[in-house]
Amino acid sequence: AQIPSATDLYNIDHLLSDEERMVRDTVRKFVRERVLPIIDQHFEAGTFPRELIPEIAELGLLGMHLDGYGCAGLSAVCYGLACQELEAGDSGLRSFVSVQGSLAMYPIYAFGSEEQKEHWLPRMARGEVIGCFGLTEPDFGSEAAGMRTSARRDGDEYILNGTKMWITNGGVADLAVVWARAEDGIRGFLVERGTPGFTTSDIHHKLSLRASVTSELHFEECHVPASNMLPNVKGMRGPLSCLNEARFGISWGVTGAARACFETALEYAKTRVQFKRPIASFQLVQRKLALMATELVKAQLLTLQLGRLKDEELLHPVQISLAKRNNCREALETAREARSILGANGITLEYPISRHMNNLESVFTYEGTDDIHTLIIGQALTGINAFE
Ligand code: FAD
Repeated sequence: AQIPSATDLYNIDHLLSDEERMVRDTVRKFVRERVLPIIDQHFEAGTFPRELIPEIAELGLLGMHLDGYGCAGLSAVCYGLACQELEAGDSGLRSFVSVQGSLAMYPIYAFGSEEQKEHWLPRMARGEVIGCFGLTEPDFGSEAAGMRTSARRDGDEYILNGTKMWITNGGVADLAVVWARAEDGIRGFLVERGTPGFTTSDIHHKLSLRASVTSELHFEECHVPASNMLPNVKGMRGPLSCLNEARFGISWGVTGAARACFETALEYAKTRVQFKRPIASFQLVQRKLALMATELVKAQLLTLQLGRLKDEELLHPVQISLAKRNNCREALETAREARSILGANGITLEYPISRHMNNLESVFTYEGTDDIHTLIIGQALTGINAFE
């Protein structure tokens, strides 16, 4: 038997169905042809490539793992593969798709009324309505359950007050899914752009995820109809189940970023000559490449089994934590090692590595920091909660 390729040392391609391969190859082609030529300019300018939204929607990638309401209804593995290919382009692009599908559409799909689903989901799948997910606050990040944003009932309305921080897509979203403390517990609310009392401001000077919009959401006596509350969930189960959906995609996504860094470093090492030999001929460089390839295979196998478990409805959240933690950590390590192989060239936008490396710092932190996922695994193993 032959080794299929340096980026698929364990022939994982062989474990995929024809449909899964087709989804992967379609998204890979889209990224190569439409994303890579423009992503550096967007990263440098600190702008999100909005012009790609219609094409992303056309490919069926928005809410692609949801069934009905205009969504593609594809498997979890297909969703994961799409995330992997998008993030091989840029984490900002994958973040956009994660937020739209897993954090904005999923809560409506899972906890919304029939009217809410019919009203919002088809338009969100078509990319006509962009969503965001407001959980984090200035004073409550990892400890999201401490949130202060409140929702006071007043007749057939709720009145929202508070601030959400670090919200992906916040400034471009038409619809915010906002988690707030109501009298009966934490509830999700659908807040439309333009609602009086609801404003957003973008966060500038980011050195990471520059091709993604990150914003604050402000609510000041913001009146929303009571029918905009998600009726079928109460408490932290609501936001946490959305986070599990998104973290699943992130576990796959970062393997794409790691692959892009590894591929770049491998090609570079074979052509860059120092001391009259390609640097790939030095043992120390080969060691770096060997370790990167090993971690890539491990991450790929982890995510594939994660996807298979999800498709068979056997998935436990701790398995997502394990994959999110491991794959983000190893992708970041791969990006740093890859950068070192490129020497000075590694620090520019000429090559994708530093862009990925900086992006991965955010991905390491959002959707549960590395520490938080470590504690989730610890709790599952010992039965002891070490958060407090
Ligand atoms: P903190 O919670 O203040 O943590 C700081 C440090 O303390 C971390 O290292 C953490 O691991 C550690 N720490 C905290 N508690 C413990 C503990 N019990 N034990 C050990 N260590 C601990 N949020 C949203 O709601 N929606 C979004 O769309 C969104 N998008 C984001 C996009 C970007 C680019 C970024 C950077 C963040 C985004 N976030 C979003 C917020 C993100 O989820 C939070 O940053 C994350 O939850 C961590 O919160 P924090 O930054 O306040 O850090």
